[in-house]
Order: sequence, then structure tokens, then C-alpha cells
Amino acid sequence: MQNPLAAPIAPLDPSCMDDFDPSSLLVEQALERIRALAAPVAGVERVAIREALGRVLAESVRSPLDVPSHDNSAMDGYAVRAADTGGDLPVALRVLGTAWAGRPFPDPVGPGECVRIMTGAVMPAGTDSVVIQEKTQPGPPNTVRFSERPRARDNVRDAGEDIRRGATVLPAGQRIGPAELGVLASLGTVEVSVRRRLRVAFFSTGDELRSLGEPLEAGCVYDSNRYTLLAMLRAIGAEVLDLGVVRDVREDVERAFREAAAAADAIVTSGGVSVGEADFVKETLEKTGEVGFWKIAMKPGRPLAFGRVGDALFFGLPGNPVSVMVTFYQFVQPALRRMMGEPAASPVRFRVPSASRLRKRPGRVEFQRGVLAYDETGRLTVRSTGGQGSGILSSMHEANCFIVLPLESEGVEPGREVDVEPFGGVTGCAP
Ligand code: AMP
Ligand code: MG
Repeated sequence: MQNPLAAPIAPLDPSCMDDFDPSSLLVEQALERIRALAAPVAGVERVAIREALGRVLAESVRSPLDVPSHDNSAMDGYAVRAADTGGDLPVALRVLGTAWAGRPFPDPVGPGECVRIMTGAVMPAGTDSVVIQEKTQPGPPNTVRFSERPRARDNVRDAGEDIRRGATVLPAGQRIGPAELGVLASLGTVEVSVRRRLRVAFFSTGDELRSLGEPLEAGCVYDSNRYTLLAMLRAIGAEVLDLGVVRDVREDVERAFREAAAAADAIVTSGGVSVGEADFVKETLEKTGEVGFWKIAMKPGRPLAFGRVGDALFFGLPGNPVSVMVTFYQFVQPALRRMMGEPAASPVRFRVPSASRLRKRPGRVEFQRGVLAYDETGRLTVRSTGGQGSGILSSMHEANCFIVLPLESEGVEPGREVDVEPFGGVTGCAP
């Protein structure tokens, strides 16, 4: 089989694309190559369902019972035999007693009889319909009158209407969120099999980086990438290994690579992937592992070193804080979620008019930051957050979506439609 890391890069026609670098991969090609290497980790554990929140099922879950387990009433009212109410209106029936939720009425109900019933109570034997309280009038003692004829199954929840016994309720690869946790509980499930947590090591590179609490000398910046990375990794339920800040020293970078590869399933770094003199990440990847590719025709994020160190997948993200988040969401997150056992999924994108003029040069796909909102006419539109520099991290905070502009786009005039990818779909996946 061909080594996916070594597949040749398909040439592209660079004519009229002044921002196009022929040695870079297209976004889709990069995604494909990453997908080819991101296999689910082996290793399964049984956990109590509370501990399964945010985890990924290793086996599908079948229902051992019908949910609900009995026909029951959807409303407060009277359980009747619909066929008994065919005579002249109002119909009067004898009330035998009351069925409560959790306390079924014990006796069968015969012709001319009914039972007062509460929401969730089991339908008494012989009844097939519930007349709601509001459509009844009191009659002589122990009777009730109905001014409307009920149809069979009115206001009745059928046994198994939610989930049938034996049905596959949750498939393998399903991540457990609030709804899934509730469904598991409704089946009486105590434990489930989930994949083991994915271990991800990460570190920042750069002589100019200062950790929080340290004074900021001239020309230095606080290391924000480790915080965005920590947050994005935690949000998808990874077990994180924070290796701190690594100086731009060849030996230090190499040591960090080896330490990370020995401990983790995947390694994510930031900085040091450009072509500057102190950018040792690509070189170290070549030395300690294999380089798959290191340039993608996108903005922000052109230098992105992808490969493998030992058994660990390696993602060397650019240093600029916006590039880190964009490349993480577009490339790293789908790969890690696949490694966690989830099925491959495409991002949710749709088209809306842009309220802003969007500047762009052809040659790279751009992930600009946008704000989706309803305008004064009630129409959903997107506007730019303004400055799109890859160091302007506040643009990620202001935005609620990416505006995805294709490679060949030369910019967008106000009123034209653009593709947007809401952050809710991108980021919302785990507790
Ligand atoms: P590099 O990719 O190492 O050339 O870094 C590109 C830019 O990103 C430089 O301005 C760096 O100072 C900045 N940068 C790199 N790493 C970080 C980090 N961890 N936190 C904040 N900014 C960073
Ligand atoms: Mg650097």
C-alpha cells in the first residue's frame, strides 16, 4: 500500500493567482491525507454512565425494553373505552376509581365504566382512550359526563413509541451528550463501553514567549496558544499533557518531540514552522519522524507541518494565535475526533449574504472571522469582524462563525452570498 505520508502533491494551475504557492496542498487534499492516518485508538473501558458524558461509545447500545414500557396517559383526564361513547351526547360513564402515575388502577374496566387518570399513569385494562379533564363535566355521584366523542388512542402514549425493545438506540462512535445520557438512563443502563481517552501532548515554541506571572520584557508576548489549545482539546474530551514553552533551540525542540511521542497519541505544537532561522519544528519532524506535508493553500495557516513521530500523529501549527485556532478547528479537531472513535463528519456550512466588503487575493482558501446576525428586515446576514490579521485573537472572540472564501475568490462585494461555518457546529461537541 502506498504510504499516505509520501503521496505526491498534485500540481495546480497557478495562473492568475498571485497568492498561490505551487508547493502547497489544497485544503481538501490535506484533509484527505490526515483522514487516511487518523484511525480510532484501540482500548475500551466500561464506565458508569455519568462518567460516559463526553466520551465515545465503543459498542452500540440496544434497548432491553420498550420505552415507555406500558401504554400510558399523556394528559390528566378519564381513561375510557372509545366504543362506549357512541350514544347520544353528553355520554355519562361510571367512575371506578383513579389511576396514578406509578400506581396503576388494578381492575379491568367494563362497558359504561371509566377511570380517572393522571399523566403518565398506565392505561387500565379495557380502556383505549383518554378524555382530557377540560372536556368533562361532573355528573351524579361517581359519574362523569363527556360532551365530545373521543377516538381510540386519543391522548395515549403507546408502549415502545419512543424506543422499541431490541432496537439499536445509540451506535458505536456516538459521543455521549446530555440527550444520550438521558436516553441511556431511560433504558436503565448502568454502564457502557467507551473508547479510552485520547492522550494529546502539546507545547509552544518561541524564545519570545513568557508564561503567565513572568514579567513581559520588550519584544516578548504572553503564551496564549497553550491556553486556546488547552481549551480546544478539553472541549473535545482529550486527556492533555501540557509540555510548556520550548525555546527555539534545536536540542530542546527535539527533546520535547521525543517526550511527547513517548507519552501521547497525538502531538500539537505551535510556532516554529515558518522558514525563519529559528524555526526548527519541520526540521525536527524530519529527523525524529516523517513529514506528510507542511504547507496548505489557506489563510491563515499556510505553514502547517503534519506527519508522524513514532506512533503519534503530529500537527505543527503556525505560531500566530488566530492561525492556531483556525487550523485546529479545520484539521486537528476532525482528526482527533476520528481517533477518539467518532465517524468522519463534514462541517456545517451554509450561504448567507455578506453585509461587509471582504478583501481577498486569489490563491488560498480564507477562513475570515464573521458575525452572523439578523438584520433589521429579519434576514440572516454575516458581517466581518474587521481586521483579519492572523495575530488579532480578539477577532475569534468577537466572531461566531468562519466566513469561508474559496481559493479563486478575489473578494466579496456587500450583498453577495458567502459560505459561513457557525462556531456552534465547529466547537460544540463535548462538556
Ligand atoms: P512563528 O510561527 O513561531 O514564527 O510565530 C509567529 C507569530 O506568532 C509571532 O509573532 C509569535 O510571537 C506569535 N506566537 C508564536 N507562538 C505564540 C504563542 N504561544 N502565544 C502567542 N503568540 C505566539
Ligand atoms: Mg517562533
